[in-house]
Amino acid sequence: MCHRIILAAVLWSALSQAPATTPQPPDLTVERDLPSLLETYKMLHAAPELSHHEAKTSAFVARELRSLGYAVSEGVGKYARPDWKGYGVVGVLKNGAGPTVLIRTDLDALPLEEKTGLPYASTVRTKDDAHRDVGVMHACGHDLHITSFLGTAKVLAARKNDWAGTLMMVAQPAEETIDGARAMLADGLYARFGKPDYVLALHVNAELEAGKVGYTTGYFLASANTVEIIVGGVGGHGSRPEAARDPIVLAAQIVLALQTIVSRENSPLDPAVISVGSIHGGTKANIIPDEVRLQLTVRAYKEHVRQRILTSIGRIANGVAVAAGMPAERLPVVEVSETEAAPATYNDPPLTERLAGVLRTSLGADNVVPWAPIMSSEDFGRFALEGNQLPSFMFWLGAADPALLADARNGGVPPPGLHSSLFAPMPEPAIRTGVSAMTAAVMAIIGKAR
Ligand SMILES: [Zn+2]
Ligand SMILES: [Zn+2]
Repeated sequence: MCHRIILAAVLWSALSQAPATTPQPPDLTVERDLPSLLETYKMLHAAPELSHHEAKTSAFVARELRSLGYAVSEGVGKYARPDWKGYGVVGVLKNGAGPTVLIRTDLDALPLEEKTGLPYASTVRTKDDAHRDVGVMHACGHDLHITSFLGTAKVLAARKNDWAGTLMMVAQPAEETIDGARAMLADGLYARFGKPDYVLALHVNAELEAGKVGYTTGYFLASANTVEIIVGGVGGHGSRPEAARDPIVLAAQIVLALQTIVSRENSPLDPAVISVGSIHGGTKANIIPDEVRLQLTVRAYKEHVRQRILTSIGRIANGVAVAAGMPAERLPVVEVSETEAAPATYNDPPLTERLAGVLRTSLGADNVVPWAPIMSSEDFGRFALEGNQLPSFMFWLGAADPALLADARNGGVPPPGLHSSLFAPMPEPAIRTGVSAMTAAVMAIIGKAR
């Protein structure tokens, strides 16, 4: 209670002192809604669903948006695999002439058995797409994203007198498999609901204190490609290498040769990563197999760097095999996955700088921190369309316990990160900040007082 009075006083003084051109800080609706948002969060956390199977989560989001007055469409999303249903949800709120702002949340969770011991921990188990029995956990914080998204949708619906334009609330399935955004766009997202003028999202960050947000101008997250190399060979007896062409030695040479792409072909000023994460071949010590399979992940920021790396992988794999005297019909086959691919996430610099200023006003300058880009990936960048045609901004939402982070800085163990079975964000400050920050960002774009 005491807290609320102080907060009210702080907000009121900020409001009364703010010049007319400064966006208003979000009103106290966030505080009023917080208890029910926390309940929503705990409910979502306890009921996670895997990518491509977000049936209940998406139905819940649709119901909530509908109850707030949004025009809701469900089942938006088309995958190449016919047995996967697209569980995308689009909620549109038209409110006169003005820009269209897309706000995105993701819906899916991870195949991971939760070990946090929290009272609202997930105990869900299911079969994955390979029919394995797996635990399911919101270990990437998408439950916090959904909760903040719904909180923002509610505040903005309640403040319709303060803004003009169109809100496009997009709940995307299958982020963890980076094919959900693509599926929604392939199902005519922009053709059916209109092309937005701005695209916004947030993602939980386990290394940033709850109550803070982080932002990166320009490249924020890397592009991602999964590549498989099938290294052919000519099998035979392990004692007679002269009668075989050994794909194991060849695969080893290829793994090492691939390292020269980043170290020798690429400018040191263009970040890029090639990691071979899987190598499989052979069954027995004295058999030379006829095939080895390599699986790689490729990360880069600039599109031309990404394309050059993919070309180099093919050239090097082929060249090393030719040098080993491999027959033409057994040369390596390089497959770049169509579905396990995402473009880089690029935060439009003018928009990012402007909204970072807005967030400083709204949350306090100390709570808005510049953050270095990382080589992780997301499929959020797809909503900006190829070549970043639409200005977009994704920011970090702090979720870590400040005491644990302080302890880690003093030599303690860092708190568990994203995708850990022990990941345990601090929901209350994070949700309050998520709703306040996203509302302030949207109001800066469509608010009447902007
Ligand atoms: Zn994730
Ligand atoms: Zn995530």
